[in-house]
Amino acid sequence: MSGLSGGFMGYSALELGALVQSRKAGVEELARAALEAAASTGDSVNAFITLCEDYAMGQARLVQSRIDSGDIPSRLAGVPAAVKDNISTRGIPTTCASRILDGYTPMFDANAVERLRGAGGIMIGKLNMDEFAMGSTTETSAYGPTRNPLDLSRCPGGSSGGAAAAVAARAVPFALGSDTGGSIRQPASFCGVTGHKPTYGAVSRWGLIAYGSSLDQIGPIARDARDCAAVMSILAGEDKRDGTSAAFEFDDSTVINADADALKGLRAGIPDEAFDAGLDQSIRARVLEAADLLEDLGAKVERFAFPTLRYAVPAYYIIASAEAASNLSRYDGIRYGRGAAEPGLTLEEAIARARSAGFGREVKRRLMLGNFALSAGYYDAYYNKALQVKAMLRGAFDEAFERFDIILTPTAPTTAMKLGESLNDPLAMYLGDVYTVPVNLAGLPAASLPCGFAEPDADGGAGMPIGMQFIGRAFGDETVLRAAAAYQSVTDWHRRGYDAAI
Ligand code: GLN
Repeated sequence: MSGLSGGFMGYSALELGALVQSRKAGVEELARAALEAAASTGDSVNAFITLCEDYAMGQARLVQSRIDSGDIPSRLAGVPAAVKDNISTRGIPTTCASRILDGYTPMFDANAVERLRGAGGIMIGKLNMDEFAMGSTTETSAYGPTRNPLDLSRCPGGSSGGAAAAVAARAVPFALGSDTGGSIRQPASFCGVTGHKPTYGAVSRWGLIAYGSSLDQIGPIARDARDCAAVMSILAGEDKRDGTSAAFEFDDSTVINADADALKGLRAGIPDEAFDAGLDQSIRARVLEAADLLEDLGAKVERFAFPTLRYAVPAYYIIASAEAASNLSRYDGIRYGRGAAEPGLTLEEAIARARSAGFGREVKRRLMLGNFALSAGYYDAYYNKALQVKAMLRGAFDEAFERFDIILTPTAPTTAMKLGESLNDPLAMYLGDVYTVPVNLAGLPAASLPCGFAEPDADGGAGMPIGMQFIGRAFGDETVLRAAAAYQSVTDWHRRGYDAAI
């Protein structure tokens, strides 16, 4: 066991599960430790929107008594966790970090939350995020930005920035995030933790508040790939309430038991275009070193041309914004959340007031972009074109996966930015999604895992973590996480972040 700094919360999720099963830790004791750790990161990191102490302690008592009677529902039974605030939780506010959902408390749990509870996981709170999951920094939250626990002057990435920060700060060993265009992988990369975006359809979206429905997936952020696999085996599976959910079961044992041998004969492709001139030198160097290590361990690593990649960002922003414009039209201040009804307003005026006051700038920008792309005169020029690019990308990935088992890229072209740096330059922020959005457009699984650190700042700031991305073929989640676990069995980048910073 690693037993790093941070008390119980310094252990991985699987280690904590083992401590619970061997009676070396009590479930209530762990829940309390997580609640305390979460509270102590409070104002500085601001990873949580809601802490649910009573709920967590109640669940902890229930799970402990299940375990005492010999019923161990999963490897993660009794382990504390936290959930991004766009995933519905019965009786616990779910805000999407937006004012428009002020005061909204769902009457049902998301499928992922039901599954987590069924597996004996203990949810201690709801995590900060970019408003409606639109953003890459967690600065668009109505609850204030989350800060990167490794350097408080920097953002944690986004939109699941609260999830990555909570795991990196050792408030919880794992968290559930969501990923529409990179929101699990990019913050995992910025905070030095591991995140997995499942194949589209592998995890039910029932109860996930929709952003871009054809792209959204719930998935884990954790300390390493093994923990991500243990969470995936809980989350994956068919759900009749989500028409796109697939009959897919995830077996975590080959990932948990993976060692360097799992890399022997693995065919890994490296797209030339992913290492273009724009890429930060230290990121290029660290990711290519990781590729060399894979090769040394018996993988066959090969460069290949993937020219379609460069069309992914514009296509993604058209499709995601178009779907958001449709999904978010339900927030009229009447059916959900706080309205702006005043006597004397027409219905249209009341809705316009509620939306103007309730949505932040970035959400409004996306809604305008989406409605424009869908409008009669421009539908073919933009939305249909974007769908054609999506189909082309899928074809190009299919072709690549005839030759490769995984495709390796950086997760993001930069490390964590300073707070405030990208807020006034949305276009630059969108371009930061260049490596992650192709995966969502093609519906594929991908993990981000730490592979080194950037050079320290000229002004003395710490060198921030660098993440690399393993992309797999559809429903090849196990291959992706097995390769990641194998890499982590011979490296320790995934253990270094917070220890180095504190
Ligand atoms: N940064 C991307 C966006 O703003 C991805 C967000 C996400 O995956 N939810 O749309």
